[in-house]
Amino acid sequence: MFHPERCDYCGDCLAFCPYVKYDKNRAEKEMRELVAGGVPSIVESCVTCAACNQVCPTKANPFDLLNERQEQTGALGIPATALANFAKLSSLPTTIKHGDPGKPVMNLCIVGDMVREQLKSPLFQGVTTVEGADYFCTVGYVHLGKPSLVKAEAKRFVEKLAALGVDEIVCFHDDCYALLTTMAEEYGIKVPFRPVHLFEYLCGVLSSQKEHLRKVPMKVAYQAPCASRYTPEKDVYLDRLFELLGAERVPRRYDRLNGLCCGAPLMARDKERAAKVKGWNITDAKEFKADAMVFLCPMCYLNLRKLCREGGMDALFISELCERALPAP
Ligand code: SF4
Ligand code: SF4
Repeated sequence: MFHPERCDYCGDCLAFCPYVKYDKNRAEKEMRELVAGGVPSIVESCVTCAACNQVCPTKANPFDLLNERQEQTGALGIPATALANFAKLSSLPTTIKHGDPGKPVMNLCIVGDMVREQLKSPLFQGVTTVEGADYFCTVGYVHLGKPSLVKAEAKRFVEKLAALGVDEIVCFHDDCYALLTTMAEEYGIKVPFRPVHLFEYLCGVLSSQKEHLRKVPMKVAYQAPCASRYTPEKDVYLDRLFELLGAERVPRRYDRLNGLCCGAPLMARDKERAAKVKGWNITDAKEFKADAMVFLCPMCYLNLRKLCREGGMDALFISELCERALPAP
């Protein structure tokens, strides 16, 4: 939710945006027009990465207003087929696979099929998994310029997960974690269980075997998903993971606050621009001599893995990197 009373029109948000080249004056002008109810050019140029929310020093959430205007005007020009395809995910069969008693419950949202191989890892042994329509967080609608649909579905999502009756639920998908923490709070929805981020879960599993871990002395370029803009505080677990593994997170240009979108949200509206953004990510990781790019979001992983491998780097989902540290069976 945008907080107009917090905005002093400093322009930091849009002057930071890595996808347009605005100076502070232009950024201020665009923000003034946006808040006044207009449709400045950033509404259409925006990649929907949410970085400006993270950058705003007063936490005014400028992206939320942009996203709202994108919905009101259809400025993103998302093709109806892309919207229809995303909507179909709400009819995926709901599945619960019971694991061992006492082991965590993990929500796979609608990304289970994208990472089925990775889920076979001993890292997830005994875990109960839930997935499909009932457990779909719908946060992806933000990229399609339909944020009202995320809000409309949020209560249902929380209630379905709450009905599982457990104290903690591991979020495999970063989008779900964003919804159950920052976004739920904004919507005024109480979450009656503790959402556990995948990073925290993996840290717990590896720490429990710390004495027996093998070192993974790789140079890795981390590719953060856009949803992480809502929850940057959990990244301490990622640094802890790299430390446990003995892997070096290369100080690439597009990391941490300066991270870039993987390009996937642009695919439906502008393939050429999407290719450019993908290229920036790959070139940057190569320039910093990464052995591999490491992904948290299955969509980023699917979107960049081919380019990554063509660029001579490995493409690894975060759990695949962690699995390399496990002692031989
Ligand atoms: S939204 Fe935040 S960063 Fe942007 S102009 Fe307002 S106060 Fe500055
Ligand atoms: S959401 Fe991302 S792309 Fe859009 S204006 Fe903010 S920083 Fe730029």
